[in-house]
Amino acid sequence: MGEPAAPADETIKVVCRVRPLNSSEEKAGSKFVLKFPSEETISCGGLGSDSRGPGKLFAFDRVLKPNVSQEYVYTVSAKPIVADVLSGYNGTIFAYGQTSSGKTHTMEGVLGDAELQGIIPRIVQDIFNYIYGMDENLEFHIKVSYFEIYMDKIRDLLDVTKTNLSVHEDKNKVTYVKGATERFVSSPEEVMETIDEGKANRHVAVTNMNEHSSRSHSVFLINVKQENTVTQKKLSGKLYLVDLAGSEKVSKTGAEGAVLDEAKNINKSLSALGNVIAALAEGNKSHVPYRDSKLTRILQESLGGNARTTMVICCSPASYNESETKSTLLFGQRAK
Ligand code: ADP
Ligand code: MG
Repeated sequence: MGEPAAPADETIKVVCRVRPLNSSEEKAGSKFVLKFPSEETISCGGLGSDSRGPGKLFAFDRVLKPNVSQEYVYTVSAKPIVADVLSGYNGTIFAYGQTSSGKTHTMEGVLGDAELQGIIPRIVQDIFNYIYGMDENLEFHIKVSYFEIYMDKIRDLLDVTKTNLSVHEDKNKVTYVKGATERFVSSPEEVMETIDEGKANRHVAVTNMNEHSSRSHSVFLINVKQENTVTQKKLSGKLYLVDLAGSEKVSKTGAEGAVLDEAKNINKSLSALGNVIAALAEGNKSHVPYRDSKLTRILQESLGGNARTTMVICCSPASYNESETKSTLLFGQRAK
């Protein structure tokens, strides 16, 4: 593979997105506990009875208020990475937050709705728009994979017979999910059909999709290879788009048995991700604990180092969720 064109910015970008209070929260009299002192800061709680307390202040690359459009979220959090992937870099965009904080709304949104579609469909369109406008000497090969990680098992969403895929390393020590279906795609429509197919497969095996999706990580991979047919120069970039399992503490629901096992598993993989991000943010390249979970092993080549990473931390503004929101903000803070 050829060398990428320009050095990547090594920092991990953290965008904090706050959803609106929903109608049931409003009906229940839940207060809006977040404040937005600037475009980069957010404060949580500390409002007391008179709502004048300062609260705890957190700073990120950007803080997005409840009224921002899906297009704006895309422009801020994802658009720059598309150009990098087409220049041969790897990247990861993931959404972190408690269940119902807006992760899926951010990553997927309403598919097929020009205004309400999320980051993934917009990336897909942008990649193809870029390719259509490129030098005709460039030949592109785009393939996608789609899987989920549930209880530390990788299930292929494009082939339901593959229920326990494993993570391997190739001869260059690059990790990959062995045997995962790779679909070659040549238009945005084909990618969206593939996503629909994966989502339908995800539904089939489970009784309650909302519960299931809050306990598993979904991973959509776009792999772009290009070759200049005149100079033979090759570039390859991989982009992982991850909708993480809900980060809520299980004690709130008093779980037992299978639910508790799920919770422990989620906790383990999310804390492994937090530890990897924190090590990368500290510039500690020799001790990044990628091996502690399947999720971080898969993402190894696309997190930190020469890769572009954006984390969207999704927050509920409701007083009822204040402690979860604080823990989400603290998770985001570890990357800074
Ligand atoms: P999660 O994937 O984190 O569990 P969802 O993305 O499914 O949460 O969001 C929960 C609900 O809130 C959904 O009905 C979604 O449409 C709505 N929602 C989330 N974020 C926003 C937002 N920024 N604006 C309007 N509605 C939102
Ligand atoms: Mg979701």
